[in-house]
Amino acid sequence: MESALTARDRVGVQDFVLLENHTSEAAFIENLRKRFKENLIYTYIGSVLVSVNPYKDLEIYTKNHMERYRGINFYEVSPHIYAVSDNSYRSMRTERKDQCILISGESGAGKTEASKKILQYYAVTCPASDQVETVKDRLLQSNPVLEAFGNAKTLRNDNSSRFGKYMDIQFDFKGAPVGGHILNYLLEKSRVVHQNHGERNFHIFYQLIEGGEEDLLRRLGLERNPQQYQYLVKGNCPKVSSINDRSDWKVVRKALSVIGFSEDEVEELLNIIASVLHLGNIQYGGEDSGNAYITTDTQIKYLARLLGVDGSVLKEALTHKKIIAKGEELKSPLNLEQASSARDALSKAVYGRTFTWLVNKINVSLAYKNASVIGLLDIYGFEVFQHNSFEQFCINYCNEKLQQLFIELTLKSEQDEYEAEGITWEPVQYFNNKIICDLVEEKFKGIISILDEECLRPGDASDITFLEKLENTVGGHAHLTTHKLTDGKTRKVMGREEFRLLHYAGEVNYNVNGFLDKNNDLLFRNLKEVMCMSDNKILTQCFDRAELKDSRRPETVRTAFSPISPCTTVTQANVVSLPLTSLSLSGRFDEVLIRHQVKYLGLMENLRVRRAGFAYRRHYETFLQRYKSLCPETWPSWQGKLADGVSTLVKHLGYKPEEYKLGRSKIFIRFPKTLFATEDALETR
Ligand code: ADP
Ligand code: MG
Repeated sequence: MESALTARDRVGVQDFVLLENHTSEAAFIENLRKRFKENLIYTYIGSVLVSVNPYKDLEIYTKNHMERYRGINFYEVSPHIYAVSDNSYRSMRTERKDQCILISGESGAGKTEASKKILQYYAVTCPASDQVETVKDRLLQSNPVLEAFGNAKTLRNDNSSRFGKYMDIQFDFKGAPVGGHILNYLLEKSRVVHQNHGERNFHIFYQLIEGGEEDLLRRLGLERNPQQYQYLVKGNCPKVSSINDRSDWKVVRKALSVIGFSEDEVEELLNIIASVLHLGNIQYGGEDSGNAYITTDTQIKYLARLLGVDGSVLKEALTHKKIIAKGEELKSPLNLEQASSARDALSKAVYGRTFTWLVNKINVSLAYKNASVIGLLDIYGFEVFQHNSFEQFCINYCNEKLQQLFIELTLKSEQDEYEAEGITWEPVQYFNNKIICDLVEEKFKGIISILDEECLRPGDASDITFLEKLENTVGGHAHLTTHKLTDGKTRKVMGREEFRLLHYAGEVNYNVNGFLDKNNDLLFRNLKEVMCMSDNKILTQCFDRAELKDSRRPETVRTAFSPISPCTTVTQANVVSLPLTSLSLSGRFDEVLIRHQVKYLGLMENLRVRRAGFAYRRHYETFLQRYKSLCPETWPSWQGKLADGVSTLVKHLGYKPEEYKLGRSKIFIRFPKTLFATEDALETR
């Protein structure tokens, strides 16, 4: 048999806390690389699971594997997403505390796959109850539906989720999954009207066009050719080799009925999807600076029928804006550019709200009361591009909040364990990113407040005045820079339209262009009015008349972050999973990309916090069982108290007092080298 030493050389350590040089990023990445080469995609940092996307099917998700991880002791089998799932499940059952599994990472890292694996694990291994089959089916079937409407092909991932998801799985007193609840947020609505080269719109559009039955398409006025639709041609990428839109259409149709959508509801839903395509094909005529008029009457005809609205009212709303000034309604014509953006704003609003309706509808079908909960948070990780805009600002702020949660939870679970074991807690120095969260979210003087204020201010408010306000209010902040220096000079390295945030993970420059509009999610009043008049039952739920009476400001980005709060109320989130990825589809281990992600996921800091105390801990029984042969007094068996046995054993091995501590049920070892020496002794005995 291979000695432990060479095995460690070859496959690395399965927990980063056992790295001898735990502050070295190079050693961290080398360990990942070694393991990846051996197809070992999972590694722990204490209770955090790190995974590297293999981009190929590994035989590690079979029913046998599920069985192997059932009821195991977390650290005693090789790291796996099932170990994480099982551990959360058992904590929920035995401690009666709600759990939360946070999944973070770049696009394409494997977050959504990980959340599906967790769901499958519960579906297979949990006890059944009477109505479980339907709930289980609905839980599983909610995925294809959400993916059809919320996923798209991007350059990085053929099936990229373009929304964040927080999903509760609810369990009854027997531990059977009996319900669920989904919170969606930050859907990338801009994709409805525009796609970058090589990317697509949301899958559902292509599925409908490719898979929809002849008479359905006829009724919707659609042609079986995605190239006909302005909203589908921007990325010049109608077909994707890894995707079969036609068979996916069948899967989605079936899933909709399993979840409990009636035929009428499906019809109304598809009317809306088709309407968005027709909206995209509305064209305007007119001089650049003159008033725009609509040149495509067929589209209006279809829209009027599919949405159940008056065609001429819709036409007028698409070419004029109505504002209320001093209690009077004023109508003013739009020019070409304004009219196109009004049309696009309507498409985005209709699609975005329909998506939320869909999620709520799924929730109704999964609803259950009085349950224990395991929550799964699947959210895009830090995004840093060449050009970063409002979307990246939102996502990165969200990640800043998550990092705070990670560190708090890691520290807390460490502290809890030390307390439970009766070991004195030594405070850990760590970077607290609260200062950055405050900079973004503080009332009155945080960035979001300043942005909201500019959005409300009538008159000359613009992206640039927002930036100026930032400079005046938080210009001197240690984590914010603009091109203006405090002494009045300018900083050449930054653009005039940019501000830079120093996030916990590094610097990101944001261009303020479009910040106000995107925060406002602007939709003209008369377009809202038309939607409120719609006969479509889904739209009447999406566009509430009360909204028209309500003169308060629209919802802004602030509301987008409510999903984080369910997690913070969780008493114990013992596991965090941070998938990494090699973005190259060949499954090559790309060191540059990996290093970038290790940095932006804050993994080194996480390891540092975890290693501040003891690198290794084991139950007395497990420890004694493994090493008892190294000491004549404990071999072949120890008759007294376990703690005394372990004490005798480690003294015999020459452990120094500062190298370990004995708790109530576990031994804690401070440095990996102590443990490795013991392991090696076992091998060379
Ligand atoms: P994310 O949600 O992080 O953007 P996905 O979960 O959609 O990424 O994963 C992207 C792709 O990577 C998947 O479609 C799949 O092909 C591959 N993949 C992800 N996780 C695994 C895994 N554990 N094993 C094999 N392939 C995977
Ligand atoms: Mg995803």
